[in-house]
Amino acid sequence: MKYVVGVDLGGTKINAGVVDEKGNILKKASAPTSKTGNRLEILDKIETLIKELNTEYNIDGVGIGSPGFIDSDKGEVLTISGNVIGWSGTKIKQELGKRFNYPIQVENDANAAAICEGWLGSAKDYNSFVMITLGTGLGGGIVVNRDLIRGSHFQGSELGHAILYPNGVECSCGQKGCVERYISGTAVEFFYHKKTGKNLSGEEIFSKYYDDVNAKEVIDKFAMDLGYFLVSLKNILDPEAVVIGGGVILSKDIWWSNMINHYHSLVNDDPGIQILPAKYLNDSGIVGAAKAILNKINS
Ligand SMILES: [Zn+2]
Repeated sequence: MKYVVGVDLGGTKINAGVVDEKGNILKKASAPTSKTGNRLEILDKIETLIKELNTEYNIDGVGIGSPGFIDSDKGEVLTISGNVIGWSGTKIKQELGKRFNYPIQVENDANAAAICEGWLGSAKDYNSFVMITLGTGLGGGIVVNRDLIRGSHFQGSELGHAILYPNGVECSCGQKGCVERYISGTAVEFFYHKKTGKNLSGEEIFSKYYDDVNAKEVIDKFAMDLGYFLVSLKNILDPEAVVIGGGVILSKDIWWSNMINHYHSLVNDDPGIQILPAKYLNDSGIVGAAKAILNKINS
């Protein structure tokens, strides 16, 4: 049995875990992400986590899921639109390769979630599917015939930066009206604040759905926008399934049927695409990054 470490680098936390070839997480460790913008500090933390996890299991490789446009051949971050300060341009594979000799595979974080769901999660029976992760932003992964679509310049599958409303809300990526400005936890917070002047967390706003008319309006709009977006995905990709994950999925009982109804009322001809909640939540980044390096080792 091979053991690898999967690392999930997020805006606030770095989560890592030892994963076996069956996808079981055997041990976990985490550290806060640096807020100073010092990339060496983040690399140090990743190194420390890997060393900590390697004390019990002799690991055979390291997979890393990172935000940003990722050149997965070279293991480099090309650009990033916020989230992890100072991380843009980091040669992750090269830098970590100076610190230890394990094989390393770097993937975009939403792609890692897609790998996880395609391996053991809600998309395991589908060859072609779209993964959407709804958290502070909206991440996307596109799998066609079991292969990730990365694009010609590693800028593909960035579903959160497709434009939903031309000339709409400004996005950290430099465009206006991006999907993630309307469909994400941050978007719900933004529009609730715009209506009420109150700064509540996405979680709090979702919990007020039945008691607060402003929360209801914001969440109903979110569900409708997601329905619109599903129509675009169907018409561009016609996948077998769309899997929706990320932290916002915890509140799905409030908006899921609304989203489905909007999709069906808006779409020209639904070919029977399966729209499914993800099976994995917080662990999808660790498991997906682990599978990315397992694929590399075993290829
Ligand atoms: Zn954008």
